Amino acid sequence: MGESEPLLSVRELRVAFPSDRGTVQAADGVSFDVAEGEVVAVVGESGSGKTVTALSVLRLLPRTARISGQVLFRGTNVLDLPDKKLEALRGDKVAMVFQDALAALNPLHRVGDQVGEAIRLHNHKISAKDERARVVELLTSVGIPNPAARSREYPHQFSGGMRQRAMIAMAIANDPDLLIADEPTTALDVTTQAQVLEVLAEARARTGSAMVIISHDLGVVAGVADRVVVMYAGRVVETGTVRQVFHHPEHPYTAGLLATLPRLDDRARRRLARIPGQPPSPVDLPPGCPFHPRCTLASLPEPCADERPELRSVTEADHRSACHFAGALAARPLEAGR
Ligand code: SF4
Repeated sequence: MGESEPLLSVRELRVAFPSDRGTVQAADGVSFDVAEGEVVAVVGESGSGKTVTALSVLRLLPRTARISGQVLFRGTNVLDLPDKKLEALRGDKVAMVFQDALAALNPLHRVGDQVGEAIRLHNHKISAKDERARVVELLTSVGIPNPAARSREYPHQFSGGMRQRAMIAMAIANDPDLLIADEPTTALDVTTQAQVLEVLAEARARTGSAMVIISHDLGVVAGVADRVVVMYAGRVVETGTVRQVFHHPEHPYTAGLLATLPRLDDRARRRLARIPGQPPSPVDLPPGCPFHPRCTLASLPEPCADERPELRSVTEADHRSACHFAGALAARPLEAGR
């Protein structure tokens, strides 16, 4: 691998599922890179293809999925890896933190045993004593109080936030190079969300791993991500650094997502804007720009309904948008969401 080669490079990823209503095109030519140690947030509403994209990295999709493109991890295409090599990669070099910790943890096994199993899977020779010590060390590192005692408890005896911490402990058990966190805070209250994000950031800092964090909420990723990939209808519609995307969004969909965020400085307590309408059905995408039926650009210009905009660089090379009017949005005010 060359010096500047990304840790992860997703190239033209396409994922489709057959369904009774037709082919569901869940990801449609998704490309992005993640550098060593970098945090990339993949953001979009439900159905945008963000989770399918994340699951593709570890080939965790159902067998019915038709996948094409490349998912290069350190230059090796994960989509072509034989099963044995894929198993060696999972949980070792690349680890996942799932959205629903209760579903991801085995209810019949003690939490400590499950963390221990994650260690043993890639370190067969570890002694029982060392494994126990490592479990306690990991549970301590994610802020679980009384870790030795709590390691003997079952998942249902943990609160939602504590279960998520235990899952993070399992994910970092083998010092992965890449953590994939799929909506890691969605099921949690706001205070616990902040704590879990902090634990994730600390865990990442300790292992030096890169992270892909999936979220429907731009606000959640603002404080943790270096770069943002915004997805809509299975495609990347905007990508750039946090500064570029948050301060100068170049796609009306991103601007709409940002407008839905509450602002601390909003003394007048205005009602939050929302993006009008619903995301399109993935079996029946509209022609042209898939966002055009919802776009709040004041007067919808000509090519939007029949020409699909390609992702292209806007003012800076690493800030890209798939909008016909990227670079000129400031001159075309957006209507507030209805
Ligand atoms: Fe809106 Fe047209 Fe840009 Fe699509 S291409 S986001 S419809 S302005």
